[in-house]
Amino acid sequence: MSELISDTDLVSMFIHLGIDRDSAEHFRGRIEHRLLINRCSECGTYHQPPRPICPRCWSTSIVPTAVSGNGTIDLLIFLHQGPPAPGVDYTTPYPVASVGLDEQEGLRFTATIIGSPNDEIAIGERVTLDWIDRAGIPTPVFRLTGDAS
Ligand SMILES: [Zn+2]
Repeated sequence: MSELISDTDLVSMFIHLGIDRDSAEHFRGRIEHRLLINRCSECGTYHQPPRPICPRCWSTSIVPTAVSGNGTIDLLIFLHQGPPAPGVDYTTPYPVASVGLDEQEGLRFTATIIGSPNDEIAIGERVTLDWIDRAGIPTPVFRLTGDAS
């Protein structure tokens, strides 16, 4: 467990993102650019969003575990409007993708896609994790790899 930042500082950094006891380690991982997904140490099942109990076997032995960040776009929307956010300009529709991570069938993490024009972003495209700074907050994003899935 990283102790680079106190719980108090962590909460104040991510408060607008709904940080809580179950997601604290996930957000702590963001500071180190590690995408941590809660995983059951009994049966090995990942789950997202973070919960205190394994949805498969009901174990409470949950360990935040770094994933590769490689996956495939499963769901995709383009926001034409939305809440004001630093670095987000809706004049170009803003992509939001739910990415199926390679670690487990049906395990998805939602983030934007950067580095490609919107007409190249599509369901089924392979992506890899990257990080950007958004108003001083380390934020996970995905980039297209250019590989077919
Ligand atoms: Zn389990």
